[in-house]
Amino acid sequence: MEQTSSAGPVQIVSITEDHKFVLDEKKLKQILFNKRAIGKKIGLVSIAGDFRKGKSFMLDFFLRYLRAKEHKDWIGNENEPLRGFDWRGGATRHTTGMLMWSEPFLLSLPNGEEIAVFLMDTQGTFDSNSTVFENAFIFALTLLVSSVTVYNIMHNLQEDNLQHLSFFAEYGVLAIDAYHTSPFQQLTFLVRDWQFEYESAYGFEGGEDILSDRLKIRENQHRDLELVRSRLRQCFRKVNCFLMPHPGLKVTNRKDFDGRLSDIEDDFKKQLKVLIPELFRLDNENFIKEINGEQITSTDLFEYFRSYCAVFAS
Ligand code: GDP
Ligand code: MG
Repeated sequence: MEQTSSAGPVQIVSITEDHKFVLDEKKLKQILFNKRAIGKKIGLVSIAGDFRKGKSFMLDFFLRYLRAKEHKDWIGNENEPLRGFDWRGGATRHTTGMLMWSEPFLLSLPNGEEIAVFLMDTQGTFDSNSTVFENAFIFALTLLVSSVTVYNIMHNLQEDNLQHLSFFAEYGVLAIDAYHTSPFQQLTFLVRDWQFEYESAYGFEGGEDILSDRLKIRENQHRDLELVRSRLRQCFRKVNCFLMPHPGLKVTNRKDFDGRLSDIEDDFKKQLKVLIPELFRLDNENFIKEINGEQITSTDLFEYFRSYCAVFAS
C-alpha cells in the first residue's frame, strides 16, 4: 500500500515530431518489474480522450482513493491541493503519449489475494485529422494493455465518439494474433459537464440511458452506424457510461485554483464518491487484466507492451 515519496507520473510512450512513437522500455520495466508487483495478478486503469478535458484532474482523485483505500473519507481534506498527474497544462505545449504512475498500488481481492494496480494517463488529440493515426495508436495500445479504460468526453456521448472508438478498437484488434471475441475488457464512457440532469440523472443510471439510446440499432439507420455499434459490442466485455456534473466555475475559471475540495461543487464531489469506488471494485471480474483469456502478471504485461508496439511500428 505504501508509496515512496518519489512516486510520480512517468512518460512511457512518446510521439516524435515526425510522428513516430517511442516506447521507453527501460522506464516501463522499472515500473512493471517493481518488487511488490512481481508474480501478482494486475489491474490497469487508464483514462483516454481529448486534451484539456479534466482527465489528469480526475486521475488524481483515483490516486487519492488508491492511497487511502482503507479509509472511509478517502477524498481528503477540504484545503489540500490536488497533486499527482499534472492537470493544469497551462500554456505549455501538449505532448502526446502515455504516462504511467511509477509505482503499483497493492489491493486485496475478496478472497484475500493481493493484486497490483497500475494507473495510466494518456494524451491525445481527437479533433485533428492530421494526427488521426497517432491517436489510433495511443488509444488502441491503451485498450490492449488496460483492464479498465475510461474514455473521457465532454458534454455528451455523440456519434463521432462511437465512430472514433470503433476505429481505435479495430486498429487494436490488428495487434492481436487471432480474432478473439471481446478482446478488450471494460470501457467506461465518462461524460464530463453533463447538463441535462433533468432528463438523465448523474451517475451510472443516467449513463445507461444515454448509452442504450446511442447504441440502439434503429430501423433504416445508415449501415455504417450499425456496423460501429455491433463492432463495439463484439470488442468489449463490458461497456458502461457515467454522467458527471460540472465541477463549478472556480475549477474552470480561477487562475489560482489548486484543486482543493473547498473550491469544487458538492454535486461533483458527491459523484466522485460514486464513480471511483465503483471503478476500483475488486469483485468486478473485468478488473483483473486478461490477455487471450488468461490472467497475466506485470512482467507478462511488459512483454505484451513490447510486442504490441512492435506490431504498430511495422
Ligand atoms: P487533460 O488535458 O484532459 O488531462 O485535462 P486536465 O486534467 O489537465 O484539466 C484541464 C483543465 O480542466 C484544468 O484547468 C481543470 O481545472 C479543468 N477541469 C477539471 N475537471 C473538469 C471538468 O469536469 N469540467 C471542466 N469543464 N473542466 C474541468
Ligand atoms: Mg492531462
